[in-house]
Amino acid sequence: MKKLIIANWKMNPQTSAEAEELASDIQQGIRGVKGVEVIICPPFSHLAIVGSISKGGQDCHFEQKGAYTGAVSPAMLKDMGCEYVIVGHSERKQYFGETDEVINRKVKAALKAGLKVVLCIGEDTRDSFDSKGHWTHELDPKLKEQIIRALEGVKKSSIQNIVVAYEPVWAIGTGNPATPDDVLSAKIFIRKILSNLYDRKEADKVRVLYGGSTNKKNAAQFIKDGQADGLLVGGASLDADEFVEMVKSIHENS
Ligand code: PEP
Repeated sequence: MKKLIIANWKMNPQTSAEAEELASDIQQGIRGVKGVEVIICPPFSHLAIVGSISKGGQDCHFEQKGAYTGAVSPAMLKDMGCEYVIVGHSERKQYFGETDEVINRKVKAALKAGLKVVLCIGEDTRDSFDSKGHWTHELDPKLKEQIIRALEGVKKSSIQNIVVAYEPVWAIGTGNPATPDDVLSAKIFIRKILSNLYDRKEADKVRVLYGGSTNKKNAAQFIKDGQADGLLVGGASLDADEFVEMVKSIHENS
């Protein structure tokens, strides 16, 4: 399975000229890197100008069209050349009140439109690790619940179009990343839930990414020691040199 690295630009950069330059610098920087799948998720307004690099949306609506002022549908993202869409990012939950039910509807709508879904899950606090740093989510139903609810009604045949991004909220944008051990435990836990929901064979097809304060210095260790199938990168993806270094370090470690 190819490693996947996704740039989530969030509501940046401010101008289309900057977006074009950033995308072009990334594209040039990763030329020749074949072993890693790189996706850029710019704001909707910049989708058309990021060029031929593979793209994704940062969010979508749960209907394909209709009277939903300000919203963008999965069908529209697909039409703009998107291959992926991020669903359930913690910032959508925090600032836009997104619920598990809405996330589930978005997942199904995105799959229906032919998009691959990057489903974000993650706990709010680091309390889920005991004093020795051991994962205690087996006892904490929250993460499990997020997956089960998001995938309600999603058929086994669609599961290969789902990517799960483990993004602990406490690690996003804080400069305080999870450890590779945390990531490995989370990956095993997530695959186990998927295995129970579907089956082992299908669960093994789902790539589990890590996201939260990654940068060029720590990227490789999440792949090598954390066994992540890739990364979802926020802040560091706005610096072309930094992001390109991350892609290259993942390439060398896959
Ligand atoms: C994110 O927002 O998905 C993210 C991982 O952000 P950062 O890399 O800035 O922590």
